[in-house]
Amino acid sequence: AATRKHALVTGSTSGIGRGIATALAAAGYDITLNGFGSPDDIAALHRELEEFYGVRVRYSPADMSKPDEIKEMIEQAVGDGGLDVLVNNAGVQHIDRVEAFPDSAWDRVLAINLSSAFHTAKHALPHFQAKGWGRIVNIASVHGHVGSENKAAYVAAKHGIVGLTKVIALENANKGVTANTICPGWVLTPLVKQQIVDRAAKNGTTEEQETAALLGEKQPMLRFTTPEKIGATVVFLCSDAADTITGSSLTVDGGWTAQ
Ligand code: NAD
Repeated sequence: AATRKHALVTGSTSGIGRGIATALAAAGYDITLNGFGSPDDIAALHRELEEFYGVRVRYSPADMSKPDEIKEMIEQAVGDGGLDVLVNNAGVQHIDRVEAFPDSAWDRVLAINLSSAFHTAKHALPHFQAKGWGRIVNIASVHGHVGSENKAAYVAAKHGIVGLTKVIALENANKGVTANTICPGWVLTPLVKQQIVDRAAKNGTTEEQETAALLGEKQPMLRFTTPEKIGATVVFLCSDAADTITGSSLTVDGGWTAQ
């Protein structure tokens, strides 16, 4: 048990992050969970991972918009047996045209979806470098490569995290540390579910109609990727088979960016 690797996944109380934490636990990693939610739900997930997969689980309530809380989270993870894998996944969305985009929403999306990954990496990298091993996987999006209307802050942040990842990859090319992004298309999670509900309310349609429209607009494969499949991709990027994959951006998007 002393040799198990430890993975920290930001925003892992829901959706894709939860899928990633579960896949890593199933692969034998100790896990630090992070994110918001009801204490009961978080405790249940915590127990589930420990009991089901026999790994050690910790939870950090750090707010990814707060650099000082991020620093404390990473220092705790490193101090408590070391850290091997950092997955920056926490993310939020805000939908508005640029001219109507609230300044506070812009700042919030940039802080959580981009700056948090700078702060986690900044504090984790010296530890990875000293050990000569580390994996950083950043969950970007197809919106790291292409734009969509009404998502200015999200698209800017996701393009930014793709660039940040390349720099981390280059600076650590011979230090045993890789950094990559995964760029999902549509994954059915609470973040996307909310967009479907909002569209149905706005257009006077059903959620089924809006789901079909959402996929049909952008994603040639007319079905969602699952959080489990993103989790499996993270496990692959942490495996020996992937140890020369760095600075890359893996689209998991049903053909979205092939168009
Ligand atoms: P989600 O809303 O289901 O989960 C988001 C997670 O982030 C939750 O655990 C939440 O508590 C956490 N979080 C939010 N703000 C936080 C903060 N300030 N501090 C700490 N944790 C915080 O969303 P999701 O769809 O699972 O998205 C996860 C990531 O995947 C995001 O970065 C998102 O941009 C990206 N992504 C999602 C899709 C998709 O179709 N769902 C596609 C591409 C990329």
